[in-house]
Amino acid sequence: MPRPNRRRDDAAEPLDVDRILVGARRTVAKRDGEWSVQPMSAAGSQKAYACPGCGGTIEPGTAHLVAWRADSILGDEDALAERRHWHKRCWEIRA
Ligand SMILES: [Zn+2]
Repeated sequence: MPRPNRRRDDAAEPLDVDRILVGARRTVAKRDGEWSVQPMSAAGSQKAYACPGCGGTIEPGTAHLVAWRADSILGDEDALAERRHWHKRCWEIRA
């Protein structure tokens, strides 16, 4: 649940779940732990992001995934602040 007094970085863009929600958030196990994964629609993707999988750019208007740690010892809010945007394929092939 949101705790508005603990925002670490006011410059981070808000995660507007009403706008981007195109599928259920799910939790997946990767080699380095559990991750929460949220699909983003093409319509909800209005910025370019650097994909950590391939180092390439996720162009605006591209459906992709947002992933953040589900098992962060720092708590969900800090993990969410460090979420990364991935190409769908790059996330799928990630170990
Ligand atoms: Zn990629």
